Amino acid sequence: MKKDTNRTELTRRSFIKAAGLGGLGGAAMAALGAPVAALAAQDPAGAAPKAASIPRRSLGKTGVEVSALSLGGMFDTINNQLLLKQALAWGVTYWDTAEAYGNGLSEEGYGRFFSRNPDARKQIFLVTKLTPKGGNFTERLDKALQRLQTPQVDLFFIHGISGIEEMTPAVKDWAAEMKKAGKIKFFGFSTHSNMEDCLLGAAKLGWIDAAMFSYNFRLMGTPKMREAVDACVKSGVGLVAMKSQGGGPVKTDSEAELTMAGRFLEKGFTDKQAKMKAIWENPKIASICSQMHNLTILSANVAAARDMTALAAGDIDALTQFARESCQGYCAGCASICGAVLGENVPVNEVMRSLMYLREYGEPELARQTFAALPEDVRERLTAIDYSKAEAACPQKLAIAGLMRQASELLA
Ligand code: SF4
Repeated sequence: MKKDTNRTELTRRSFIKAAGLGGLGGAAMAALGAPVAALAAQDPAGAAPKAASIPRRSLGKTGVEVSALSLGGMFDTINNQLLLKQALAWGVTYWDTAEAYGNGLSEEGYGRFFSRNPDARKQIFLVTKLTPKGGNFTERLDKALQRLQTPQVDLFFIHGISGIEEMTPAVKDWAAEMKKAGKIKFFGFSTHSNMEDCLLGAAKLGWIDAAMFSYNFRLMGTPKMREAVDACVKSGVGLVAMKSQGGGPVKTDSEAELTMAGRFLEKGFTDKQAKMKAIWENPKIASICSQMHNLTILSANVAAARDMTALAAGDIDALTQFARESCQGYCAGCASICGAVLGENVPVNEVMRSLMYLREYGEPELARQTFAALPEDVRERLTAIDYSKAEAACPQKLAIAGLMRQASELLA
């Protein structure tokens, strides 16, 4: 990893204030380099601010240095133009979006920002994604570029693969063609399912530039995940973490979580910031893609990215212990395990992800959209399936039948 550069020192006091404890005060905003009054007065149509400092890391063999914190675009970017401007001003210069986010509206919001701030596009490392479902990639990519108001994205991902076999020779040829046509610079995939196998496969293929995958304090310590990350680093696949908070289909606001939160508060972090710092402490991860749909979350995450105070070994142990104690609330995305014993084509982990959006993210609309994207026949027979073998096989010991019932009741 290249050394983090342009590090901005925040005092402990400003760091914790920026975490939104008791509200986001003016002092905390000032500590982040934001002239609050001036910012509020800015016309979104004005000139884009110059990107400020935030740690940057190399994205695999692409040779591009990206901001260690990336803006996930799964929110209303059209009506949050000021937030986009502030992300850029604070140095969050890697922006992620997808056709699937708001059915193209997220891309449209980014595009509106670029058209109003022509200098901004040059500063942003822009990523979009297309799901394999829906056919005609070229036509859909052209439409995405139109919405983004740019002739090229820096990185293009096939969205949400479950196995490396989806990276077929035809996909390889298409990626090469799009690179040649100047529509994409780099190519890769994102995955929430069977992440380790997808990464191990990517490392062998040799033509995957980068991958975004679920990675957090619950997943990072397993031998297979370590092996997968190492293999990608060795073969130059750039790695971007997502789902950094390790939230699941069951809300885990237990006594154990409160104890953990208290531990980190004593040190000047929130537990949410500590979970991100645990990822950044692995230099093999280039960036964390985080949904930051308001200034409180954005500022807390920027403050965490800029603060270089290392977690102690005891802190990692505390996270690991919490992961163990709350494992029954988290779906680890190992879809091949429950899928193999179910004997039915039911993407259990996708249903779990819908519930996670509802309960952990507090995003009912997104939860419903994710659930609605499942095939109709799957949704209809969700509660009629016998999950007992899947529950016995599940390494997280999730109460799969009950959770499928809840998803059906809450999201159908
Ligand atoms: S339900 Fe269990 S086995 Fe299935 S993906 Fe989630 S954690 Fe893995």
